[in-house]
Amino acid sequence: VKFVYDFTEGNKDLKDLLGGKGANLAEMTNLGLPVPPGFTITTDACKVYLDSGEEPAALRDEVSAHLDALEQRMGKKLGQADDPLLVSVRSGAKFSMPGMMDTVLNIGLSDKSVQGLAKQAGDERFAWDSYRRLIQMFGKTVLGVDGDLFEDALEKAKETKKVAVDTELDAADLKKLVTKFKKIVKTEAGRDFPQDPRTQMDLAIKAVFESWNGDRAKLYRRQERIPHDLGTAVNVCSMVFGNLGPDSGTGVAFTRDPASGHQGVYGDYLQNAQGEDVVAGIRNTVALAELEQIDKKSYDQLMQIMETLENHYKDLCDIEFTIERGQLWMLQTRVGKRTAGAAFRIATQLVDQGLIDEAEALQRVTGAQLAQLMFPRFDDGARVGQVGRGIAASPGAAVGKAVFDSYTAVKWSRSGEKVILVRRETNPDDLDGMIAAEGILTSRGGKTSHAAVVARGMGKTCVCGAEDLEVDTKRRRMTVPGGHVVEEGDVISIDGSSGKVYLGEVPVVPSPVVEYFEGRMHAGADDADELVQAVHRIMAFADRKRRLRVRANADNAEDALRARRFGAQGIGLCRTEHMFLGDRRELVERLILADTEAEREESLKQLLPLQKKDFVELFEAMDGLPVTVRLLDPPLHEFLPDITELSVRVALAESRQEPHENELRLLQAVHRLHEQNPMLGLRGVRLGLVIPGLFTMQVRAIAEAAAERKAAKGDPRAEIMIPLVGTVQELEIVREEADQVIAEVEAATGTRLKLAIGTMIELPRAALTAGQIAEAAEFFSFGTNDLTQTVWGFSRDDVEASFFTAYLEKGIFGVSPFETIDKDGVGSLVKSAAKAGRATRPDLKLGVCGEHGGDPESVHFFHEVGLDYVSCSPFRIPVARLEAGRAAS
Ligand code: PEP
Ligand code: MG
Repeated sequence: VKFVYDFTEGNKDLKDLLGGKGANLAEMTNLGLPVPPGFTITTDACKVYLDSGEEPAALRDEVSAHLDALEQRMGKKLGQADDPLLVSVRSGAKFSMPGMMDTVLNIGLSDKSVQGLAKQAGDERFAWDSYRRLIQMFGKTVLGVDGDLFEDALEKAKETKKVAVDTELDAADLKKLVTKFKKIVKTEAGRDFPQDPRTQMDLAIKAVFESWNGDRAKLYRRQERIPHDLGTAVNVCSMVFGNLGPDSGTGVAFTRDPASGHQGVYGDYLQNAQGEDVVAGIRNTVALAELEQIDKKSYDQLMQIMETLENHYKDLCDIEFTIERGQLWMLQTRVGKRTAGAAFRIATQLVDQGLIDEAEALQRVTGAQLAQLMFPRFDDGARVGQVGRGIAASPGAAVGKAVFDSYTAVKWSRSGEKVILVRRETNPDDLDGMIAAEGILTSRGGKTSHAAVVARGMGKTCVCGAEDLEVDTKRRRMTVPGGHVVEEGDVISIDGSSGKVYLGEVPVVPSPVVEYFEGRMHAGADDADELVQAVHRIMAFADRKRRLRVRANADNAEDALRARRFGAQGIGLCRTEHMFLGDRRELVERLILADTEAEREESLKQLLPLQKKDFVELFEAMDGLPVTVRLLDPPLHEFLPDITELSVRVALAESRQEPHENELRLLQAVHRLHEQNPMLGLRGVRLGLVIPGLFTMQVRAIAEAAAERKAAKGDPRAEIMIPLVGTVQELEIVREEADQVIAEVEAATGTRLKLAIGTMIELPRAALTAGQIAEAAEFFSFGTNDLTQTVWGFSRDDVEASFFTAYLEKGIFGVSPFETIDKDGVGSLVKSAAKAGRATRPDLKLGVCGEHGGDPESVHFFHEVGLDYVSCSPFRIPVARLEAGRAAS
């Protein structure tokens, strides 16, 4: 294998091997752009080093050969005393990883060559400043010396000299500083700063390899779900200097605005400086446009290069450049990060420019970005009362009463209050409170703190590390700058997109994208916001491309109508249990408690017209589109009062000697129906089989509702779905009864109803015997919630709040299997069941209605295994449409 690639040998598609930076440096080199010569050591070399603790045997010679070639080209040797070649050593993984060791500049400088550099550059100060930077960076990143020690020494030098900025230190001061820095290295690292240039370079390369397994890098990878075995590449690049006088400088630029996508000149420039100075904020940068006045030739060349890059990458690029004495050099480029809104805008702009086609445009946006655009935001005009600012950890706008512990958060939210959980920092014990809260605010911790990570996972608004706020959880209050005290119960507002914290209630405005989906804003209108226009077009691309249909999980007309506005092509799951609550609970109670056939029939008779009305409304809302109605699923005890509450009531009545016959009867029934494991108990089809008349009442209601809609010239398309089937026999029995009821209704009303009957596949046995089940089912809908629960043996109601954080931290899975389909386990059952079902019945309709139906990654999976549709909650329909389109293009 080859471990080292010259910049002339690579290209942008070799990111696995050369890392993002190396691949793009090679690409620019091959485009003929001015890139300082250099070479890249591959991720393979890093992997060997990490596995064995040693560099691959061939690496040293390969590096020597490439260094020789570089020296020849540059006409000077690394660290040459009278005219040194200097290089930078930078890490560069496949994915950019800000948590990692970055850069060592000026490698090749030593006590001797610093003199040569001074002479060559005609600038003694510059040479000594470069040398002290090398010792500082090398000491910190390669030898592990605490960086503050160097910073402190630098501060002290400035104090002694009574100057404010380091540019005011002269060569003599810097010379002294170099001596001091070398002393720091000697004491802290227990070795001299190496004078041999090749030793400097080799140690820096090794340090980059090792940085892959640094704590911050590992944590970052876990959070961003970057595999741990990729390794990093190392780029060795000849140095160019932006700090050689006013005709030098350094800058960053975007080929278009990363916020709006508009084309133009976006970037910053800093005269007479190195890249590090920009980051350190020592002096203020100027807008890139000003470079035109400073150095027109370089400016024009830069504009040209940016155009070349955009046309070549066909995307927004960000770049870093340096001008050394009037000569422009490109130090880095990559496809630039952008806001969610800009992603949509840029994708359509590039289509209009003819750079990409519709299919490619769909690859430039994600469902997650669309979801982000659907969050409500704070009203810009009404943002008053800002009291603090933290890190924007998880987007959204949240308003609520401040509470300072999880218990209160849960208690208050149960009683209908909106709360913001305020903590110094959160830990796994706060999970319940985080779930209950509208948003989370912490005064400590960064983007990778527990609060931030968990909130992002839950899609909950979070601001963390707002250090200006003094949180006192004991006294349940927080003090904001200026001394104002926020007590428990005071309303605050937090903006997870900007990190800002406000006192009181900041009005929230709905997202324009949601307004558009709701039909309250028309993309065709002249004043349509550019963003909405872009979303509108991308959605059209997606709808044209996708094969999967998208339905909604909805069980009332209101949700159904919204779903329709959002683009639903039917209802994939109407859960009828929601129709048995409220006023009807009493009827259900009577049904459950009935002692005689007559009593039971009476309750069913009363429920029938109510159920029918529900369905008439639903079929009307979804006229012309399929509506899958699922018969009653949950265990009956869910419709009865809580056992403890009821026991107390009975005991109280007893002690007061009040009549309590009914309560007693109820209590007996609750005891009778009580199950240790209700999720695996008397529910779903099992209910239908043991409670006479229940399912047939529901079927009758569906059939009569459909007949009524037909009579009203409607186009009802009902489908009846049986839950929790494990064997075809269960389905056959229910089906026979249902067919009979339907036939009766058809005869009575004189209409042909064409009601399809199908089943959920949500138990492993159902999936394993799908071929048999398909004999009795006209459609399957995969219930991936229960299927995940039963395949993993994870209680879906408990595990996420109990041990999943630990599982995620240990990397057992990167994301909850209840959120994204577990392809290898649950997914493989879906795949084989789909195949077996279709083998029995080629026209078997296949869908999914578990939560996964609206999850981007899962949608791609369902596309791949050939399902006909996904069904998800109304709000996720646009995301599902988009991802289905992306999956198909
Ligand atoms: C499922 O199990 O995936 C499903 C959709 O049904 P429910 O969530 O109602 O159990
Ligand atoms: Mg289920």
